[in-house]
Amino acid sequence: MNFRNVDFADIPLGELSIWVCGANAQGKTNLLEALGLLSAARSFRTQKLSSLVRFGQNSAKIIFGVEREGSGESEIEMTIGPAGRKISVDGEEMKKLGDYIGKFPAVAMCSDDIKILRGSPENRRRDLDIFISSLDSEYFSALRKYHSCLAQRNALLKDARNGEDLFLPFERQMAEAAEILERKRAEFLSLLSEIASKKYSALAGENGDSASICLKSSCGAPDAATFLAMLKSGRAEDFSFRSTLKGPHRDDFAIHIDSKDARLYASEGQQRSAVLAIKLAQFQIFKEKSGISPALLCDDILGELDSMRREAFWKCVDAETQVVATSTCPPPSTSQGRKWKSIFVSGGGFSQEAPGERIL
Ligand code: ATP
Ligand code: MG
Repeated sequence: MNFRNVDFADIPLGELSIWVCGANAQGKTNLLEALGLLSAARSFRTQKLSSLVRFGQNSAKIIFGVEREGSGESEIEMTIGPAGRKISVDGEEMKKLGDYIGKFPAVAMCSDDIKILRGSPENRRRDLDIFISSLDSEYFSALRKYHSCLAQRNALLKDARNGEDLFLPFERQMAEAAEILERKRAEFLSLLSEIASKKYSALAGENGDSASICLKSSCGAPDAATFLAMLKSGRAEDFSFRSTLKGPHRDDFAIHIDSKDARLYASEGQQRSAVLAIKLAQFQIFKEKSGISPALLCDDILGELDSMRREAFWKCVDAETQVVATSTCPPPSTSQGRKWKSIFVSGGGFSQEAPGERIL
């Protein structure tokens, strides 16, 4: 209710394969964004939660009825208002976000994911951090600690009179956290690279090209002691830039297709395929490590691919995974045996009948 351009809607999404179809600017992504909120309690397209509230309204409310194998039915109520976001599960308010996230997992794939390839290192780091954090609470804690100490250290760098005694407590904590972040990033990227390369080959077809991902660490420190020494010796230079120049907050990773930097040489279809391969790999790793099969939310992601790659994409998605996909076109006749149930969107309204079929 009052969510983006949706005044009120009651949308049945019980099927395994749902195809949300409509012209541009009707509300397809808005529906997927609402479903993404159920999983992550944040939007996959904006960090500004207030933009989810319908223009002219005070708050938005979404109620999800979820049925999960083994754990029965739950009702989740999410309110987004001036005071932020409030979530309750079966009437019980979730005070800590950490207790909620991961309960109803979904992986969202959208056209903005191309930023993983074409965007800044920050885009890549953010995606990787969110992915690893969703599976590893130690990583999430280390990330929070690192960033809070980094902010303190950067504040100290604004005044050249600040000395060693002020820096050391923060630098020690940063070094401990950095060791965890670097080790886990390397582990996850190696796994991600291995699986994403296979997914890419599956998308590209038998005679297609191959892809690989590799991490470029700006930190270069194998352990906490080396990183601490690096922070100390880099302080003079950091003072002149008033900012910490090296560390996990500057890491990046590169995506190669046929050993060439995909950003510089890959075609549109190859770039899109590489990003889909990474997202499919994240999906598989999440499923294997958590033992839970997330839902897949696909926001008009296959538009730039040829029919062979589109069909190959559906081959990469297990038959038992629930998929909600959006498109301006009708569902494909073949998607590895999936029987799509269509939902039609127009002006923020949702119907199970095509506009022409509607009986007024
Ligand atoms: P496309 O095919 O172009 O991606 P879409 O169907 O996915 O279109 P949405 O992104 O869901 O479109 O947006 C539908 C409409 O919702 C747009 O016209 C947008 O301007 C509008 N909209 C976005 N935020 C709000 C809001 N807070 N209040 C009211 N309307 C909004
Ligand atoms: Mg859209």
